[in-house]
Amino acid sequence: MSIKNAAEKLICQQAMTKEDFIELLGYFGNSDIMALLKEEALKLRRKYYGNKVFTRGLIEFTNYCKNNCYYCGIRAGNQNARRYRLAPEEILECCQEGHHLGFRTFVLQGGEDPFYTDEKIAAIIREIKYHYPDCAVTLSIGEKPRESYRLFREAGADRYLLRHETADEAHYRQLHPDSMSLSTRRQCLWDLKDLGYQVGAGMMVGSPGQSDQTLAEDLLLLQELEPQMVGIGPFIPHHDTRFAKEPAGSVELTLYLLSVVRILLPAVLLPSTTALGTLDPLGREKGLAAGANVVMPNLSPLRNRKQYELYDNKICTGEEAAECRGCLEQRVRNAGFELVSERGDAPFLPKKLNPMYKENR
Ligand code: SAM
Repeated sequence: MSIKNAAEKLICQQAMTKEDFIELLGYFGNSDIMALLKEEALKLRRKYYGNKVFTRGLIEFTNYCKNNCYYCGIRAGNQNARRYRLAPEEILECCQEGHHLGFRTFVLQGGEDPFYTDEKIAAIIREIKYHYPDCAVTLSIGEKPRESYRLFREAGADRYLLRHETADEAHYRQLHPDSMSLSTRRQCLWDLKDLGYQVGAGMMVGSPGQSDQTLAEDLLLLQELEPQMVGIGPFIPHHDTRFAKEPAGSVELTLYLLSVVRILLPAVLLPSTTALGTLDPLGREKGLAAGANVVMPNLSPLRNRKQYELYDNKICTGEEAAECRGCLEQRVRNAGFELVSERGDAPFLPKKLNPMYKENR
């Protein structure tokens, strides 16, 4: 194929520049190019994962957070948030139920809560690994020193989700207080990768101040880091934040970006997020149809679900874990895929910037 535009360049797996990504984002709304990219995304998704959709049991174990990300409902400065944390035994009970339901990955997610010292986290990981050696443990507990990441890895953690949120310096400053920095976030991602984690980066779509320029920076970061997982969901305002009156991100643009990221990183583990399902009743099905291959139902105790309120109207806060899994199983089937009980690791692939990459794809 002779390369005519940035969409074709992406499909041909050529290294993309910032200008290429900006051009690609300019095609949002062009139905021919959007259809072409969606078709390619589904082809690649099928090539690497067939009909399978992997599932992760999400355990939101603390909503205490020392940070003050301006968009987030559980940021430290939100006096109205009702705080909770699960005891280690409660986390293990969630895993027990999850394992019984067929989950083979547990995601421990929380705010940055100093109560959970590194030793406490490591002990929880060891316990989970001892009782469920067939399961993967994913952490999503924010920025830590490299030595903490090393300790968790040695305790048995397999994966780490740390969305970079935005790779544009000025945009990062609009979303975070001065105590936080994009360079620290980046360093954490590279440390995690270096320590052998399967790493997840990602961004909200439509966060206040986002533009094609900042999204192009996000895509460049993903191209450079080559994470095994990418979390992309729409921004949704929370009533107790400075962004309460901002519009939510676009479902359509999120779907477009899911297809783009599937082509950029063909074997990536790509969740169809709860935020997508919050903005559109069929959002998660549409995410799967755009190239996503992971869903993350909630395993947190029902009594705490509403308290982990990152944004307004979050769905799945009133269902038991079994109901949540059953509902998603049906949704996955409706979208033409099959929910499986596997760890669902990313396959090993040569790196994109390696000259052998294209031959091996
Ligand atoms: N503290 C960890 C961290 O910072 O990575 C994990 C928990 S954090 C609450 C999980 C993710 O929630 C963030 O990476 C962010 O993208 C998402 N989030 C927070 N507020 C949101 C909002 N208003 N709309 C959509 N997503 C949001």
